[in-house]
Amino acid sequence: MHNGNLEKVFDEIIGGKQYGTLNSCTIEIPGPFCLTIFGASGDLAQRKIIPALYRLNTIRLFPQDFAVLGTGRTEMTQSAFRELMKDAVKAAFPDDFDRDSWREFSARLYYVRLDYEKSESFRRLREKITSLEKSHTTEGNRIFYLAVPPSVYEPVISNIGLAGLSREEKGYTHIVIEKPFGRDIGSARSLNAILRKSFSERQIYRMDHYLAKETVQNILMFRFANSIFEPLWNRRYIDHIQITVAETLGVEHRAGYYEKAGVLRDMFQNHIFQLLALTAMEPPSIFEAERVRDEKVKVFRSVRPFPLKGIDDVVVIGQYGEGKIGKERVVGYREEPGVMSHSETPTFAALKVFIDNWRWNGVPFYLRSGKRLTKKKAEISVHFKPAPHLMFARALEEDIEPNTLALRLQPDEGISLHFQAKTPGSRICMSPVLMDFSYKKVFSLNDYERVLLDCMQGDQMLFVRSDGAEETWALLSPLIEKLESDIYPKDFPNYEAGSSGPDAAALLPRKDGRSWRAM
Ligand code: NDP
Repeated sequence: MHNGNLEKVFDEIIGGKQYGTLNSCTIEIPGPFCLTIFGASGDLAQRKIIPALYRLNTIRLFPQDFAVLGTGRTEMTQSAFRELMKDAVKAAFPDDFDRDSWREFSARLYYVRLDYEKSESFRRLREKITSLEKSHTTEGNRIFYLAVPPSVYEPVISNIGLAGLSREEKGYTHIVIEKPFGRDIGSARSLNAILRKSFSERQIYRMDHYLAKETVQNILMFRFANSIFEPLWNRRYIDHIQITVAETLGVEHRAGYYEKAGVLRDMFQNHIFQLLALTAMEPPSIFEAERVRDEKVKVFRSVRPFPLKGIDDVVVIGQYGEGKIGKERVVGYREEPGVMSHSETPTFAALKVFIDNWRWNGVPFYLRSGKRLTKKKAEISVHFKPAPHLMFARALEEDIEPNTLALRLQPDEGISLHFQAKTPGSRICMSPVLMDFSYKKVFSLNDYERVLLDCMQGDQMLFVRSDGAEETWALLSPLIEKLESDIYPKDFPNYEAGSSGPDAAALLPRKDGRSWRAM
């Protein structure tokens, strides 16, 4: 997962701020902070947050002064918490665990038991934070990370506010909220309202870790720092766009969450709609969080609402049955631990989306995502229109394939352009060739490391703004409601694990004379 031989981080102080360089990129080292994790004994804290914090400190992208305070209902001593986190870090870096780095990091790791519903608990929490702020000289900079199930968001947010912990006194106070941000438009609005009672928008970091992947960030650089593609990036030259996020994994140990969410809430409302916005948005006047987020919201507002009559023309859902992933036989979704035997939760969806604006009028965006598919793959492919006049048509026996540009986000990150070239020889004969750029081994910060650093630096670019979250829910909620209603027929399971999804999904582009790119 991580390369061990990271470039050394150099310290340099410019204008009171400290910088380092990593893989030839300058990175600002954040100021001192005290980070409180709610739900610190959980899966996310152990697999993602704590390993990311450990590594950022190990590669010296952290300041000298910081403290990490784990909290939760679980009764645990501080040393038991440190041991639990040590195991988590060892599991995350089986080849890279360094005892000295761990000793240095764990000396800043604390735990307090907390009842999320009780204000008394939060008074004690405030005392603990105040004492850590003194002992670690964290200059009043506070981050609260909600790594608890969504059902606990409301009491935690309210109690942080009631305890006076959301006020910015000496330094900043930021709150990080994990996905899912609500489960429909109503709950997203009410969660925003609860947040607004104690925090201003500037303090709120709605997490979509997908946005922090290097390749996702590169979509904007690729589009707006190169002059050759942007003139073509519109309805005149683009036939259609496909966005695919395919997983080979099943529901794993997260059935409790997934059963209530399903693929449209889990993948589309956040990750896939964010990819859609980055692909379709207009260039902002400056590369700054508010301007970029403005442009993304404009895309969401231009998405044509899904027609609720004739829904099958724009959406296909599915659920995996048993099958084979590689050589391994795997069970169907309904046989997974924690899943109901008659579950109607979709694990696959394909959507056809139109963006009703000048640039994209008439260009379909085909979006698909699912679990237990044939390959792990995340990709945006831009399918250009055929050349307007095929002067070679008579000399060629086959049709000429139009150009395709693929932005590969996972796993083989890179960019490739398919175009036509003459095959050597005397006959007029063409074949598609590939111009390929691969990111392999170039970058080094993973998504959680990136977003944690950004939150500490006060950069909200990679986080979702309240209107962005609400607009995407406003689009998807009526569709989800219809699909979840009893009147919508669900013939589940309808695709085999290890396949490309339900057969009906192929029809979505085929009805328009197009086809999905191979997974
Ligand atoms: P867990 O189910 O592991 O819960 C985290 C912690 O919250 C638990 O250790 C527990 O700590 C506390 N908790 C669990 N259930 C309840 C409950 N019913 N009431 C009160 N407290 C409870 O969740 P994850 O760590 O998997 O996820 C945390 C958040 O992050 C969720 O919102 C999830 O959707 C989101 N997320 C998770 C991802 C992942 O990979 N795990 C990925 C993306 C988002 P204690 O009992 O000590 O209080």
